[in-house]
Amino acid sequence: MAKLRLKALDGGSTTLDQETVDQFAATLRGTVLTPKDDGYDSARTVWNAMIDRKPGLIAECLGAADVASAVRFAREHDLLVSVRGGGHNIAGTAVCEGGLMISLSRMKSIRVDPAARRAWVEPGNTLGDVDRETQAYGLATSTGINSTTGIAGLTLGGGFGWLSRKYGLTIDNLISADVVTADGELVRTSAKENPDLFWGIRGGGGNFGIVTAFEFALHPVGPEVMAGLIVHPISAAADVLRFYRDFCGNAPDEVTVIVNIRKAPPLPFLPTEVHGTEVLVLAVLYAGPMADGEKALAPLRAFGKPIADVVGPHPFTGFQAAFDPLLAPGARNYWKSHDLRSFEDGLLDTLLEFVPTLPDPQCEILIAQMGGATKRVPADATAYRHRDADFILNVHGRWENAASDEKCISWCRSLFEAARPYATGGVYVNFMTGEEAPRVEAAYGSSYQRLVELKRKYDPKNAFRLNQNIPPEPQN
Ligand SMILES: Cc1cc2nc3c(=O)[nH]c(=O)nc-3n(C[C@H](O)[C@H](O)[C@H](O)COP(=O)(O)OP(=O)(O)OC[C@H]3O[C@@H](n4cnc5c(N)ncnc54)[C@H](O)[C@@H]3O)c2cc1C
Repeated sequence: MAKLRLKALDGGSTTLDQETVDQFAATLRGTVLTPKDDGYDSARTVWNAMIDRKPGLIAECLGAADVASAVRFAREHDLLVSVRGGGHNIAGTAVCEGGLMISLSRMKSIRVDPAARRAWVEPGNTLGDVDRETQAYGLATSTGINSTTGIAGLTLGGGFGWLSRKYGLTIDNLISADVVTADGELVRTSAKENPDLFWGIRGGGGNFGIVTAFEFALHPVGPEVMAGLIVHPISAAADVLRFYRDFCGNAPDEVTVIVNIRKAPPLPFLPTEVHGTEVLVLAVLYAGPMADGEKALAPLRAFGKPIADVVGPHPFTGFQAAFDPLLAPGARNYWKSHDLRSFEDGLLDTLLEFVPTLPDPQCEILIAQMGGATKRVPADATAYRHRDADFILNVHGRWENAASDEKCISWCRSLFEAARPYATGGVYVNFMTGEEAPRVEAAYGSSYQRLVELKRKYDPKNAFRLNQNIPPEPQN
């Protein structure tokens, strides 16, 4: 009888016979895939093409009962486990080498109650899926800026985007969640039920269990919003960034402006001679009435001599997908990120010094404006700790061929080091690569010890370890 060799939790291996695997499969509504099965390769492929791991088994779950069954099976056989939501994480922790990958990607139900302004969302959905269902009622919750990102991982790390200055982080809109814990039990968590777990999953990532449903608060948004891009030549970047800093300092919560410095892609509204040259892009959205947005964004649009200004009424769902073509799956990606408390002159100069050496047309420097409602939630209300950051710097290395790995990665690291003097020391866990385990404690700051205690309570054996891990015991 065929045998399967799987990676065990302790780093060793476990052998399962086919009958055991078949018995496990029979407990699921979903499917169990082995490396020989059709669909195995697509099920293990994630957004970042630098991740190429081969799980020993993939459980494609269709509901919470499947997830509980998979967790119990892994526990019984002491298997290494990874959990896949949307498969978008830069670190690629959704996929394990040799163990059991519990995939939630087929759990895609969404139910919206427009009167109560609530949505119940399964963890295989993308942000685009959520927007599509909620926008049918002119509603939305606060998520990210790229429609193909998974809602599950984004929420568990914190979640910020176009609506977070107005409506808070994604976790600030989380009302409750259903969680399968490490012992295979399904529990509900909210401010009233298992509140310690509810605190932990709002920023603590996948450390405490597998979320099988999220309940979100919704808000009236759009369906059209004032949004778009303002593109400046790089020669104007220093002046634009200084103006941007002052503009952000006085901006109402409805305004969000994200800066993107890169080589211009061949966008149809840019003159062809600009394509491939370095530009500074201001991506803006106003989360409120159109006329107010026009007024609030007017000073930003009037500054300098932009190459293009395509700010105007856009469908919210369309703008949420505006960056998708530049962030399609299948490229090689490496990121470095800092939280920034302010946007000092020295930092602007440092960023611009790195522009002439952009190592690939797809690499970019991204500055996200934070603040607004995200800051008004008490720092200890959730496990997400860095609400004091006014900006987040993300150095996006992105390229196609492995031959460029070294030059792109070293450019990201150099810029990250050069920017360090201007950083708070905090970092958003969802922007960390797989090599950044030593930064996890800094990422949680003063929440860390409480998270360790929660981990000891909910996952003492560290069954959920393929994430930005919070080990229950100190590591050597
Ligand atoms: C192109 C791009 C744009 C992005 N933009 C934003 C943005 O605007 N705002 C923002 O906040 N973030 C953004 N992110 C980061 C994003 O939040 C993370 O990549 C997030 O992990 C994606 O979630 P996922 O479900 O796709 O992750 P996956 O890769 O599927 O999972 C990552 C980890 O999350 C955990 N996990 C996933 N699902 C569950 C679950 N149901 N239960 C328990 N644990 C689970 C597991 O530990 C898993 O290893 C972006 C990422 C990319 C690649």
